[in-house]
Amino acid sequence: MVSLRLPPTPTIRDIIKLYRLSAIKQLSQNFLMNEALTDKIVKSVGKIYNSQVLEVGPGPGGITRSILKKNPKKLIVVEKDQRFRPILDLMESIVSASDVDMTLIYNDIMSINTKDVFSFKDKKEWNDECPNIFIVGNLPFSISTALIIKWLHAISKQKEAWSHGRVRMTLTFQKEVAERLVADVMGNQRCRLSVMAQTWTLPKLQFIIPGSAFVPKPDVDVGVVSFVPLKTPRTNHDFLFFEKVNRHLFSFRQKYCIKCAGTLFPMDRRKQLSTTMFKLAKINPGIRSFQLTVEEINRLVSAYKYLCEKHPEIVSYDYRASKKIVSKKLTKSISVQDFTEN
Ligand code: SAM
Repeated sequence: MVSLRLPPTPTIRDIIKLYRLSAIKQLSQNFLMNEALTDKIVKSVGKIYNSQVLEVGPGPGGITRSILKKNPKKLIVVEKDQRFRPILDLMESIVSASDVDMTLIYNDIMSINTKDVFSFKDKKEWNDECPNIFIVGNLPFSISTALIIKWLHAISKQKEAWSHGRVRMTLTFQKEVAERLVADVMGNQRCRLSVMAQTWTLPKLQFIIPGSAFVPKPDVDVGVVSFVPLKTPRTNHDFLFFEKVNRHLFSFRQKYCIKCAGTLFPMDRRKQLSTTMFKLAKINPGIRSFQLTVEEINRLVSAYKYLCEKHPEIVSYDYRASKKIVSKKLTKSISVQDFTEN
């Protein structure tokens, strides 16, 4: 493999000084200056030589440089903050003399259809090996949970980037969120996010980066998590339907999960329907939600679906509304805040 040799460029630290790029808090800007660390992140992505890579939030370009050193065929970067334009444009013009095709997109990653940024030349069927297409990013904390939920949803539908096959991702999260994503049954951090991530992908915590490695230093450490979409998801249910039951199951950590599931049903039939749900799913009602495997949760979702078909009036039952709590988006879209609460 030939490594791309960029002409000598100022260090990321110098670039930030030169362009007077003070970090913007609203964009969760915490920059990585340490080349050994950006190289380590890129190494954990996989074999990116001759592949297509999408980088989210390149900022001053530390990870971008490490990616370019590995000679991908195509690199697409999506950056919301226009202040990085001169640096990234310069990088692109240097790279244009090489074989790497670099595309800069100055936009919000949340509004980009990741299907269109990749060439279909590397497309694989879902059941084939993973395509030579990768997504990587030192994500802004402010959008990391919303983005992974959006992308898990896209994976479940094999849409966006995942219309090219089982595209792998390597992304950063606050350490606590990273631990939730990979938390196993019985684990302290086991929550809805763990179940959603593990139902459609195999998430792996690659390593932790101490907060002190970033400029400015965030209050928390950071976890690098890789995700490989599963050939066969651990449920056949629709993402939003599965998420709804999951959300109820994890609504109260300390209560028995049958109590939590009860909130799916109107008060007057709560006891009877939740008992039936647990009987149908063959789940011991005396356990707590963090003790449930994905397969057990899937059985509970199937049981709830059966009850919805038998009693269609319960589908629209809204526990929060019944509690007079204003909630605009219960079933149609997912509240990110909910994911961060449990
Ligand atoms: N990759 C750089 C590094 O590791 O030093 C910067 C990482 S910094 C944590 C997050 C980057 O994402 C910033 O450059 C920020 O401007 C950018 N960003 C924030 N929100 C974004 C969004 N919605 N879409 C695209 N980029 C975003």
